[in-house]
Amino acid sequence: MRRPKTAFFDLSCCEGCQLQVVNAGELLLEIVNLVDLVEFREAMSEKHEGGFDVAFVEGSVTDEHAAARLREIRDRAKVLVALGSCASTGGVNGMKNAFDLAEVGRIVYGDGRRFFPTATTRALHQVVPVDYTVHGCPIAIPEFLAVLKCILSGIPYTVPDQAVCTECKRNENVCLFDRGVTCLGPVTRAGCNSWCVNNGNVCYGCRGLVSNPNEKGMLQVLTAHGISLEHVVRRMEMYNRCREEGTGRGR
Ligand code: SF4
Ligand code: SF4
Ligand code: SF4
Repeated sequence: MRRPKTAFFDLSCCEGCQLQVVNAGELLLEIVNLVDLVEFREAMSEKHEGGFDVAFVEGSVTDEHAAARLREIRDRAKVLVALGSCASTGGVNGMKNAFDLAEVGRIVYGDGRRFFPTATTRALHQVVPVDYTVHGCPIAIPEFLAVLKCILSGIPYTVPDQAVCTECKRNENVCLFDRGVTCLGPVTRAGCNSWCVNNGNVCYGCRGLVSNPNEKGMLQVLTAHGISLEHVVRRMEMYNRCREEGTGRGR
């Protein structure tokens, strides 16, 4: 059976999600057995001319050059996958949307800013149609593999649509609020198996807002612990600044 021609690309990002794939250990063998890797700058030097069956695109669109590059990849790919938070919600790159872009350019590049045109950060689906999404900063390889298998089977991947707290409870973690620490798990989309909390950290909301967040429950928790809503909203904006106007959420 012909393995699908598959490529990886990056726009504005730290390339940590691609690194997750490269570092997948034995699972990397499973991945390369499933697909024909034809372009993947972080792992190989070959380039591919022509079309792809599957294109994974990491990173967000932060200038018009990236938008043009993404449209070209979209034209060449049968299936386009947003890989990681930068691609799926705009991720940390979206934080610049809170500031005046000319001022951002002046602070970061000084006199050289004319060489680095910038634009409002957008997630991939805000520029081109996206067929599949792998959430997370960085992506989790088990979910990446699950999405890949759905792509190869021609079926949709259903992103878990409940809060990270549901996974955290199943993992029997002590809730961080009970330790006086703010955590975004109650309003964040699950699917990472409460990865950060399991490893002694808080949830930063990297997978985006769950579609039906329990706002009342979250407010009760905040009130009980003397935490302001504004504090939580500000923290949520670290990854979710590119959400669509009027919906309150990204993809
Ligand atoms: S989602 Fe996170 S790990 Fe992945 S490229 Fe963006 S910043 Fe890096
Ligand atoms: S708030 Fe955070 S620590 Fe508490 S249950 Fe939810 S995910 Fe776990
Ligand atoms: S626990 Fe929260 S911040 Fe960590 S990977 Fe899961 S959704 Fe992202």
